[in-house]
Amino acid sequence: MSPFVGKRILLSVTFCTVTTVVTLLFLSSFPGLKIPPFYWGVSVVFPIILSSLVSWKLAKQSEELCELNQELMRSHDLLKVVADSDSLTTLLNRGGFFRHIEALPLGTSGWLLIIDVDRFKSINDRFGHRAGDKALQSIAAIMKMTVRPHDYIGRIGGEEFGVYLPEVDEAKAMLIAERLRHQVEVTPVPVTDDVSIHMTISIGISKAQRNEAITDSLYIADKALYSAKHGGRNQIRRAA
Ligand code: GH3
Ligand code: MG
Ligand code: MG
Repeated sequence: MSPFVGKRILLSVTFCTVTTVVTLLFLSSFPGLKIPPFYWGVSVVFPIILSSLVSWKLAKQSEELCELNQELMRSHDLLKVVADSDSLTTLLNRGGFFRHIEALPLGTSGWLLIIDVDRFKSINDRFGHRAGDKALQSIAAIMKMTVRPHDYIGRIGGEEFGVYLPEVDEAKAMLIAERLRHQVEVTPVPVTDDVSIHMTISIGISKAQRNEAITDSLYIADKALYSAKHGGRNQIRRAA
């Protein structure tokens, strides 16, 4: 029995006993109303036994309800994490990525990077879809290691990723983008047991103030990404 249950039983028993005794005292104060000792005994002992049993049962039920409530809250938190994450890469998924950015305080300013793997279809074509999946997991891992712990990374499409850098200026955002581009370019990615390949990414970047709709910044960064693709890939373009 937990101290909490014990305390509640004691309180309830004390309350019952006191009210019974006070009632009996009140009744016996009337002239001619004398309560025999046997009735005193029965009237005090029975409520004590009854209230102990009932309050023990109620306290137990309330403890069980508390545990169930905590379990429910844990499941709810877990569900939120699962609903927001991408099962292939364990990064945030598209919805989770934008939800996390939109949850930042309104005054927050930052930069949005939209990253697309170059010529990714050819990896699927040459090595198969499973190798392509492995390549996506490797790129996700490289990105996770390259950005700062409080930056947000999400897989927002098939071979397209988003990175949100809160509280950085343009120079720092460009530096991080370049670090990402370089790190992917130089890291060999195993796609089969005996083949590793080098991949490249193109990046479009745009300022993303939290008081503007994130979809507007996405649209602008996307345009910059296409300009990086048309400019020859493996490069970063900032929205004009
Ligand atoms: P670009 O440089 O223009 O971006 O060329 P690309 O080949 O990367 O672009 P494209 O849009 O033509 O092809 C993207 C490919 O990504 C097509 C699709 O099969 C592949 N893809 C999308 N999602 C997944 C995935 O979850 N796993 C695998 N293995 N491939 C995927
Ligand atoms: Mg694409
Ligand atoms: Mg691509």
